[in-house]
Amino acid sequence: MIPLRIKVEANAEQPFVVRLRSFEAIPGIEPRGRNPHDVCLESVDANGAEYVGEGGSLRILGIDPSEIDGDVLLVNPQRGSADRIVRSSSPHNTFLVTERCDQLCVMCSQPPKKHHVDLFEQFAIAAMLAPEGATIGISGGEPTLFKAQLLEFLARVMRAREDLHFHILTNGQHFEDADREAMLALDRSRVVWGVPLYSAEPEVHDEVVGKPGAHEKLLSNLAFLCRVGAQVELRTVLMRPNLDGLPKLARFLAVSVPFIQTWAIMQIENIGYARQNWSRLFHDSSSDFRPIARGIDFARSRGIDVQLYNFPLCTVPMPYRHHAPSTISDWKRSYMEACQDCRLRSDCGGFFEWHPKEHGYVSLGRAA
Ligand code: SF4
Repeated sequence: MIPLRIKVEANAEQPFVVRLRSFEAIPGIEPRGRNPHDVCLESVDANGAEYVGEGGSLRILGIDPSEIDGDVLLVNPQRGSADRIVRSSSPHNTFLVTERCDQLCVMCSQPPKKHHVDLFEQFAIAAMLAPEGATIGISGGEPTLFKAQLLEFLARVMRAREDLHFHILTNGQHFEDADREAMLALDRSRVVWGVPLYSAEPEVHDEVVGKPGAHEKLLSNLAFLCRVGAQVELRTVLMRPNLDGLPKLARFLAVSVPFIQTWAIMQIENIGYARQNWSRLFHDSSSDFRPIARGIDFARSRGIDVQLYNFPLCTVPMPYRHHAPSTISDWKRSYMEACQDCRLRSDCGGFFEWHPKEHGYVSLGRAA
């Protein structure tokens, strides 16, 4: 797995952000000018690499500098570690802005924590240092629990960097009419809101997210997002409790939220609460794809774009495979033994690194 956290030595008290530069390591690529947050490679020895910048020096341990050139690090000097919050060579960069959440979803991959440290200032600096044209993911926890800071962060970064795009995961519970002005002030063509809806039935959705009334509030806020012209990617994690309801959900979407950009049906990730509840939630889509197919067919017939996220390609019937892009981020993607000689591998997103080796798909590899 690609390491997202690396060891460092830095003489500082508070967390800070730097971008690693080793200009000589990339001949032909001229820096657009050094930023005060840049630290430049000074020397490399058997024990690590020394970088120097305006704020002092930083020692990186245990990783080849050529693998991290251009990365933006959030350095925690007290812990002696740094998070690679923007990897310059990857399209998969996400800022985890909080671990707090007001929902308790049965398949949550990142169970909420009470503790919160506000790092929006550091995230803003990091975003400004991102490679040209990058899309930055924002996730949690629930980012809109800190909505004022989030909207301010977006406005500030988007003003300064007109080339950046954002994809924000939110449970959609916290928008209000009072947010209208701030939302309208954003360049909405550069922000996609990923919002989960698990069922057309309020009781099924509320049960999944562990919050009575969540379905009703969500629909009201989807209407708000429509009124302010926001781009919405509606997300439905596939689970046994909502499997048979997918065709009904497709009809519901066509009537109630036809303005969405995409309906993403997602395979479940075996981590967090999903691992604890795996046997009652996981559905082998290779053994029965029919409810998913009916949902896709109906949504497509109403002009809704449908995508299948996190589905191993051979578990999807041939006529639907073009809906299943490779979506698992590079740092957490892996393949099974059955994948070794697969001719579909270059187009297939495979599995999450933590997916059990007893993968649960009866047809894995057969149609590949
Ligand atoms: S066998 Fe091929 S298509 Fe199936 S999961 Fe592995 S790489 Fe993907």
